[in-house]
Amino acid sequence: MTNMNANIAAPRMMLVGGGTVAQVADVLKKFSLSRPLVVSDPFMVSSGLIQRCLAPLEAAGFSPVVFSDTVPEPVDTVIEAGVKVLHAGNHDCLIGFGGGSPIDTAKAMAILASGGGRMRDYKVPFQADRADLPVIAIPTTAGTGSECTRFTVITDHERDEKMLIAGLGALPLAAIVDYELTFSVPPRTTADTGIDSFTHALEAFVSRRANPFSDALALAAMDLIGKHLRAAYHEPRNAGAREGMMLGATQAGLAFSNSSVALVHGMSRPIGAHFHVPHGLSNAMLLPAITRFSVAAAPERYGEAARRGGFAAALDADALACAKLVDGLTALNRELGVPTPSAYGIAPKAWEEKLDLMADQALASGSPNNNPRVPDKAEIVALYREVWVGDGRNV
Ligand code: NAD
Repeated sequence: MTNMNANIAAPRMMLVGGGTVAQVADVLKKFSLSRPLVVSDPFMVSSGLIQRCLAPLEAAGFSPVVFSDTVPEPVDTVIEAGVKVLHAGNHDCLIGFGGGSPIDTAKAMAILASGGGRMRDYKVPFQADRADLPVIAIPTTAGTGSECTRFTVITDHERDEKMLIAGLGALPLAAIVDYELTFSVPPRTTADTGIDSFTHALEAFVSRRANPFSDALALAAMDLIGKHLRAAYHEPRNAGAREGMMLGATQAGLAFSNSSVALVHGMSRPIGAHFHVPHGLSNAMLLPAITRFSVAAAPERYGEAARRGGFAAALDADALACAKLVDGLTALNRELGVPTPSAYGIAPKAWEEKLDLMADQALASGSPNNNPRVPDKAEIVALYREVWVGDGRNV
């Protein structure tokens, strides 16, 4: 039985479908906005992909300014630099155009520009509800779901800590979800971002904060991602697969934003902060082992996830479906070339030395408390050791 009381938040408007980015100027006009700062990344500019956003804005007579000095897994110093650019212009909105990193950067800029101070002042449990300028989010990966979540994740560069910032201030006003922007995503990033989406849906569904609203979205997302992730990875130009993945990623974002993430995300952020592993990849490294650790605490939930995600047959009983889910996630990592932390090149001594701190940071994030099986610190350390070794197959 999930919670019947839920606090649901979503963007006021979402355009979903191939080619919808061409309507970006119409979206701005609907909200009487006209002076955007477009937050993106260097690759979007050098590849020309950003023109898909700029050309319709310019055709509508707007003069968008671009801030593209963002970095993957955004750090607080970049947000501060972006706020200076924002204040230097007379902007009435931000457009986040790119993967989760530029979108999270735009959302954090809107929060910091409104309240001042340092980015760390806004980390959970602070409620970051205020952002004076709205964000329109246009994802180019499928993906983080950041276009429709009330979160942004920013690294504190002085403390090597990936901070979770949560509140309505981080929720975009509008999102444009156009899968045609994802055809150029390389296979490695397709895999990492796709497993990130599946993890969002699975954790939203098994979370202690799951509710009927998030359940429906999480199940729909697992269905789509289970059907389309492999094809999107093996055939980058497969439109049906890209479309399914983009829709699934957005539904997964809405699901976890209105439920929560859990132990995978709690343990994943410290790996990213200390060893600079991309967010989706560190989730993928952890997902099979943490699912194995957790299934017995909620077999009916994991069983349903296994059936909807295509890991088990419709008539499989929960226990069998759970076992198939663990095996299936391990096989998926192998097929998508997900390395163990060891195979990724992290030095064994560096890993071992950080385990204590990483376990403390995982627990401090609060996410493990939402897991069906809540671990203590020793169990978290043991799980980190387990994924380091891997099962000998996913290297
Ligand atoms: P990303 O934005 O860091 O992009 C990864 C790489 O892919 C970059 O080099 C980028 O230039 C490239 N790329 C993006 N779109 C492309 C395209 N269409 N074609 C070719 N290359 C493309 O990766 P991401 O996984 O989308 O975002 C990760 C960030 O999102 C992390 O910082 C993570 O913490 C955050 N995140 C946020 C939320 C949230 O709710 N706010 C949820 C999950 C993750």
